[in-house]
Amino acid sequence: MPFSDGRLCGAEATDVDHIEPGDDHSMANLQALCTWCHARKSASEGGKAAALTRVRMDRPKPTHPALED
Ligand SMILES: [Zn+2]
Repeated sequence: MPFSDGRLCGAEATDVDHIEPGDDHSMANLQALCTWCHARKSASEGGKAAALTRVRMDRPKPTHPALED
């Protein structure tokens, strides 16, 4: 997925993400992400639920591995 400044991470996309979480499995709602970006997106989505359920979520590393020197 693009970063907030519009860049793509450039890492190999290995995961299929639901753009809008839920049961819409149509191609229009799917995108290819690398594992890190997928985990970050899922964590942000889960964070909303975690605020309600107080379930602690594992957070991805703050720095994208493809961008590390
Ligand atoms: Zn990525």
